Amino acid sequence: MAAIKHRRTALERVEKFLSDTYFTDCNLRGRLFGDRCPPASLSCFQTPRRIPYDEAVVQEFGPARVGESFGPTWETCWFKVELNIPPAWAGREVHFVWESDGEGMVWRDAQPVQGLTKEGEKTSYILTRSLKGSEPHSLTLYVELACNGLFGAGKGSMIAPPDPDRRVTLSNAELVVFNRDVYELLVDLEILLDMAQLLGEENQRSFQALYTANQMVNVCDVTDPSTFPAARDLAAAIFSQRNGESQHTIHAMGHCHIDSAWLWPYEETIRKCARSWVTVVHLMEHNPELTFACSQAQQFEWVRHHYPGLYARIRDFVAKGRFIPVGGTWVEMDGNLPSGESMVRQFLQGQRFFHEQFGRFCSEFWLPDTFGYSAQLPQLMRGCGIQRFLTQKLSWNLVNSFPHHTFFWEGIDGSQVLTHFPPGDSYGMHGRVEEMLKTVKNNKDKGRVNHSAFLFGFGDGGGGPTQKMLDRMKRMSDTDGLPRVQISTPDQLFSVLEKESSQLCTWVGELFLELHNGTYTTQAQIKKGNRECERILHDVEVLSTLAVARDREFQYPANQLQQLWRFLLLNQFHDVLPGSCIQLVVEDALQYYTEIRRAGAQLQEEAVESLCRDLLQPEEWSTQSTLVLNTLSWERTEVISRPGPNGTETLALVTVPSMGYALVQEPFVPPEPVVVWEQEDGFITMENGVIAVCVDTMGHLISLRLMDSGRESIADGYANQFALFDDVPLYWDAWDVMDYHLETRKPVTTVLKPLKVTLGGGLRGSVRFSLKVGKNSTLTQEIILDAMCPYLRFQTQVEWKEAHKFLKVEFPVAVRSTNATYEIQFGHLQRPTHWNTSWDWARFEVWSHKWLDLSEHGFGVALLNDCKYGASVHRNILSLSLLRAPKSPDSTADIGLHQFTYAVMPHQGSFQEAGVIQQAYNVNFPLHVVPANCAPCPAWSAFSVSSPAIVLETVKQAEDRPEAVVVRLYEAHGSTVTAWLQTSLPIKEAMLCDLLERPVGWGCLPLEKQGLRLSFTPFRVLSVLLVRSC
Ligand SMILES: [Zn+2]
Repeated sequence: MAAIKHRRTALERVEKFLSDTYFTDCNLRGRLFGDRCPPASLSCFQTPRRIPYDEAVVQEFGPARVGESFGPTWETCWFKVELNIPPAWAGREVHFVWESDGEGMVWRDAQPVQGLTKEGEKTSYILTRSLKGSEPHSLTLYVELACNGLFGAGKGSMIAPPDPDRRVTLSNAELVVFNRDVYELLVDLEILLDMAQLLGEENQRSFQALYTANQMVNVCDVTDPSTFPAARDLAAAIFSQRNGESQHTIHAMGHCHIDSAWLWPYEETIRKCARSWVTVVHLMEHNPELTFACSQAQQFEWVRHHYPGLYARIRDFVAKGRFIPVGGTWVEMDGNLPSGESMVRQFLQGQRFFHEQFGRFCSEFWLPDTFGYSAQLPQLMRGCGIQRFLTQKLSWNLVNSFPHHTFFWEGIDGSQVLTHFPPGDSYGMHGRVEEMLKTVKNNKDKGRVNHSAFLFGFGDGGGGPTQKMLDRMKRMSDTDGLPRVQISTPDQLFSVLEKESSQLCTWVGELFLELHNGTYTTQAQIKKGNRECERILHDVEVLSTLAVARDREFQYPANQLQQLWRFLLLNQFHDVLPGSCIQLVVEDALQYYTEIRRAGAQLQEEAVESLCRDLLQPEEWSTQSTLVLNTLSWERTEVISRPGPNGTETLALVTVPSMGYALVQEPFVPPEPVVVWEQEDGFITMENGVIAVCVDTMGHLISLRLMDSGRESIADGYANQFALFDDVPLYWDAWDVMDYHLETRKPVTTVLKPLKVTLGGGLRGSVRFSLKVGKNSTLTQEIILDAMCPYLRFQTQVEWKEAHKFLKVEFPVAVRSTNATYEIQFGHLQRPTHWNTSWDWARFEVWSHKWLDLSEHGFGVALLNDCKYGASVHRNILSLSLLRAPKSPDSTADIGLHQFTYAVMPHQGSFQEAGVIQQAYNVNFPLHVVPANCAPCPAWSAFSVSSPAIVLETVKQAEDRPEAVVVRLYEAHGSTVTAWLQTSLPIKEAMLCDLLERPVGWGCLPLEKQGLRLSFTPFRVLSVLLVRSC
């Protein structure tokens, strides 16, 4: 019968028919479950540790009941559940329902079978889809319940520090009959309702969907399932009305973003992986179309180790191409702060793991949730066999909307990768109509490409896809009015994008995230651990490689190094290195650094002992001496300090060749000694023939001159000026520093101990002072000038006890330039010093590695550092970001003692000509000083490079090839150059290889008298395999 259909009443009628709140006594939703039956028995055992199944089930279990609470936070409750399925349920689908605010895992027959999380919409385990008489009706399950939610246990809000006393409640545990026919109708109606609401009144499909849904309610008698098929036929009729050929195609892929640590510790992540992935495998067994893209080799390795049974099932699905390893990296690392070599190792460890375990390398780099992306990444990806990149985080930009979703991204060397941001701006879709429509509407490359990615599954804390998501998308596969939706794979998506790529635009340079800029500074000890451990592993590799070449007995510590690298790489995860994690994670991370420092020191000592055995062992004619080792690829002349008698230190000036060693030659007289004198006003002046500096009583630099030219570096005002800012972001406390913090600047002006001379000159001059910072913090600094040294060093100690404050140090310099230069991985880039456009001022706080520089033609000033990453240059003021004090998610973040060093280096000419890059390395890689017993002997160098534009960064033993050495060099000046690499190691063959150490190109490089001839274009990274001849 034709009837008037008022749009609003029709919509709400359908809504109420599906409601789980209203009219459940008579609506469809109220019929989802049939009969219920409690467990025959329920008992539990609680432990503060995360223990394996075998250990858990032999414990003594005590009585437990539904409604009870368990805790506190981070404890684990193991439940033993005995079930008797009523025989009257024959032929019915039976679920075990478990509702709790903790994350659960169901174990059956000693195997994990189902993850359970309320927040991830997983509250039931399907026991049977149709109960047969032959099936066992009595069974025992175990449920491992973690006393934390999907997002940890934040007290009050998600990112607040965890509540240590959180208890989780078991609100339901029972057997139920599940009415699959009701469920299917609910899914039909939900989609039609969404289409009716979201397509809008200007679209006739909206009305078609609404009237169909209304008619379905009419024909459907909820008490009589025999009426359901007719209703379903109505839905099927509208779903099967096809699209035209031009419709956009969505490539849906199952996904589950699992932060390797964040609001929960690493150990919990291991269980999160198992809970999420066992659910995926289970879904795959019942949904032959389901694909699942899964990143982070470390997480595979965890599951391999802790859940071998589950891992075997995963491997089967990997082999079938459905469980798809992506990313190629060890973890989804921070995209800004890891060094170039660290990023290479993320890929090396990741790709090698995937290849070894699954027989293939990943072909997509996958980093959906990281806080910005270095402009060196395209080259590193391509060097690791990857030409495709998926992310989406730039959708979080606070100021500017990124102009593309599909584009070519070009790095500083010119390498390009095809890059795709899923236009729905999320990696945790639920397969809803709204998300499909957003994906099409939001796509910024309409008309250029007609395909896009859609990653579905609960994420961040794990969870992954659900059956319902799949069931929604099945209905939407090709329905007029909605985009086409196909379950796909990253390879299928990128293959079509590659075919359609002729119209795509190119974005050159970094993908800067205009948010989370506090993560360059938060948790300073983690940053320091990262920088220091990168240095330690570099040095151990260099020295061990040289030791192998000099001592046949020496074993390269390949296994230990792999383990230590994996610790470092894990800590580079995108919520750990950025400092956006809870205190428990910080403690874990610092422990890994402690282990790298400890083991690294031992490995280094062993390598030095083998490398320099003759020099270290006392011989009859030997004398006390000092051996100095240099792990960098240029000769260095520096003042070193060596232990003297009675705990004293003596200084010496030494010249050490590149990647080699020398003995200290006595006497050590510098061409010009450091001269220190105090003026009447208390100001102190220091000079070393290169630079002259004047410091006032509170540690300000009031003058910094190049002595050759007399050129003054300091502009009006004070340099080495500490400033404190209020630092209260809008929400993401540990992550964000907002633009308005700049309006709250307060210079630090309270002197605790005025300036005094601590070393009076000669090889070294130094002065010291202390300041009061903020309300409760103190800063003590030693300003050091060494003989012949082109920079002034600031050795700093801060006792930091602030809340929501940001400490920076500022250098206003007498330089005018519209661009400043910042070091990044294997190179550098420029950013504007002005705030002309929104793209410029959105970068009020940026990141940099070991140095930044502001230069005009012929002159500049560089700021070097040994463990800082946050920086900015506005107009002529260089600022280094030193310490923050956020309170969420770690209320203790950064409180305590900090030690760090930065340095200022004025220079003539360009920073390239002045050697700023090398000096910044020198600050970060101190010479190694070892007491020796030997007669004078000539200095020794293992490697040298003929051009100052080329940095030989890495020397290591080749993976799986003990007879070969890999050396990695890069062009650091931004120039095209040919250079000779010379080595004193016995080499019989040399060939170029990629970053995975696979030979590339045609055959061997000629070994000439001057060494190996290598050609570079700007910022090019080259790796060479050197095969030893003995
Ligand atoms: Zn994440």
